[in-house]
Amino acid sequence: MEVMPTISSLGHSVYPVILKTTNGSIGSINCYIINDGDSLTLIDAGIDTDLYWEEFIHVLKKKGFAVSDIDRILLTHHHEDHVGLVKRILAIKQIPVYAHVEAVPRLKMDQGFLTMRQNFFKKMYEEMNCLEEAQFRLAKLENTRVNAKALAIQVDIIPLRQGDKVFDYTVMETPGHSPDSICFYDEKRKWLFSGDLLLSKSSTNAIIEPDSEGNRLKTVIQHRESLRKCASIDAELLFPGHQNVIDNHRALIETKIQKMDDKAERMISFIQGGIEKANDLAKAYYKSKYTEEFSLVMSEIVGYLDYLEESKRIIKVKKAGIWHYFLA
Ligand SMILES: [Zn+2]
Repeated sequence: MEVMPTISSLGHSVYPVILKTTNGSIGSINCYIINDGDSLTLIDAGIDTDLYWEEFIHVLKKKGFAVSDIDRILLTHHHEDHVGLVKRILAIKQIPVYAHVEAVPRLKMDQGFLTMRQNFFKKMYEEMNCLEEAQFRLAKLENTRVNAKALAIQVDIIPLRQGDKVFDYTVMETPGHSPDSICFYDEKRKWLFSGDLLLSKSSTNAIIEPDSEGNRLKTVIQHRESLRKCASIDAELLFPGHQNVIDNHRALIETKIQKMDDKAERMISFIQGGIEKANDLAKAYYKSKYTEEFSLVMSEIVGYLDYLEESKRIIKVKKAGIWHYFLA
């Protein structure tokens, strides 16, 4: 196994753990070990597979360390390809785990939260006229709730919020991809550990989620604002959760926002052409992907409809329990 080169600045060294993946477009699953000379910080924790665990241990060993040398874990968000090794690491050594306050119910998978989330998605799919196609997704959510005990990460999480300082990092809330997405900014070194906010080769999905009250978050709008916020940060290097390290984040953000604008315009043209319902828009836009990647596709469609509605480009009218969308 080939180990990525260490990146160093002002006495700190980053050891990237980058495991290439073959499925989907994410390219690789990354986490980062930072050696500040006195201690080791792990930012994100990859995925819970033996292969990733082996790679992680291999990188540590190459740099002269073991799992028991890690002093803390910082998480950019709760997704399974970012928190995978937390339990394995804590089984070896009890160390503090930091994540955004919104990550806590998601990592701990409490029953009240999961039930609320299930109801939220059922209602949304009903109103978007795709309850039948959603059965598989809803069954998956039910399965998660039933198996929550085994799936949950039942460790004490130190909750973080915008502006908090944790060791050398300032916490920057960047919701959109998930409600709990945060970046860790090392101002001295101009390093930003950016999770899934911005990827070099593929676009980041703004995934529909409820807030803690069960209201739908306007995730596309959030994601755009988070990208703008990131562009305002003076960073020389971004360390993302997937794919390559980024050294041109401002230019990259401009292309991502342009792509989002193009997507919104294409959706407008379908609505102009007479498509009224979210499920019909999803089929027209994504074709066979509508069934193959139902949950992601509906998430994109609903996110963009919310965005277009908020931008006053479209309006919605409820007929027999189903939302119909029209040009404003
Ligand atoms: Zn993610």
